[in-house]
Amino acid sequence: MALRRVGAVDAVEPGLELDFGVDPEDTGPVRSGGLLDVRRIYAEPAATLLPRGRQVLARWPAAEVVEVPSHWQIPDLHGNAGNVSRWVRVKTETLVLGVRKSMTTRVNGRSADFIAPAAANGCAMACAYCYVPRRKGYANPVTVFANIEEIVTAVRRHVTRQGTKTEPNQCDSEAWVYDIGENGDCSVDALLSDNVADLVAAFRSMPTAKASFATKYVNRDLLHLDPQGRTRVRFSVMPGDDARLLDIRTSPVAERVACVDDFVAAGYEVHLNLSPVVLRDGWERDWAELLVHLDDVLGPAAKAQAAAEVILLTHNAALHEVNLGWHPKAEDVLWRPDVQQAKRSESGAINVRYRDDVKRAGVARLTAMVEQHAPWLRIRYAF
Ligand code: SF4
Repeated sequence: MALRRVGAVDAVEPGLELDFGVDPEDTGPVRSGGLLDVRRIYAEPAATLLPRGRQVLARWPAAEVVEVPSHWQIPDLHGNAGNVSRWVRVKTETLVLGVRKSMTTRVNGRSADFIAPAAANGCAMACAYCYVPRRKGYANPVTVFANIEEIVTAVRRHVTRQGTKTEPNQCDSEAWVYDIGENGDCSVDALLSDNVADLVAAFRSMPTAKASFATKYVNRDLLHLDPQGRTRVRFSVMPGDDARLLDIRTSPVAERVACVDDFVAAGYEVHLNLSPVVLRDGWERDWAELLVHLDDVLGPAAKAQAAAEVILLTHNAALHEVNLGWHPKAEDVLWRPDVQQAKRSESGAINVRYRDDVKRAGVARLTAMVEQHAPWLRIRYAF
């Protein structure tokens, strides 16, 4: 396949109808529910020479391949912040293929013990509160790293260096937990390449460690990966009304809940992220309803191994401004200066969280509701 130099991206009419391009009837060559219809792949030449890079290119044979010097330097992807039809189209039709340079594993201590060097970043979904770094413009389409063997080797070395976990912690009682999908969604990444399958297979043979990723997308192909208990999937759930408003392009919450038993039966450990918790009129009633639904739907095996993270909403002043341009209704619930406080992050961004007293009361209330409606659901941590 010939590589072509970066050219100008075709102009796209703004057309601000909220069509998020998800077709539940989609049965295309890659079953993506309409999330992906890749027509352009920005590729580092070195990535196209690796077997995984070739796999991605072969999966989308009609896509135009555009050579780029670095997977971070793609100016054509920037500048679409206020144009929803443009950036959703970029998410749907664009992939980046690169070679991961840094193999650093970072200490975490909340969702996982460590954050592994990711095999992808970016996301095809479009949650209104998403704060993953957007170094590829507001659209932030998925980048697949083709050097998966180096990534797996780096993770394996790190796991070996840790030895056995001797002190249980909230991440896990006996395994070192590695988050493999910090800045994206592995269930969607698995539609694009075998990187997730390779990581699941690698952790299968690491008895002192466990992979973990949070997801809002149901990819039933993952049921065939035989994780043998060494991969934890954390399905994020929130009341249906919140998800319909905020979780743009994701799988409906009812579908996420309905697949939990199947993932447990397939050998995954399945946890739940009660996240993000958005405090708005009626939140307690709707969360209680969701917890009752979980209690009704989940089978004994799922309940026996379940645990949850509770994460109250974090928002961001810049994202608020962007959202006002395309989805102001979301901001009615996300932007609540009456109960929120701002804090400048290390990167200079102004992050917004619920005031300490509001957050404390919210966590206490939700914890009490979990005890009442889903007492089998151990809360690993609340943040
Ligand atoms: S699924 Fe996660 S990474 Fe993707 S848009 Fe939503 S919050 Fe962001």
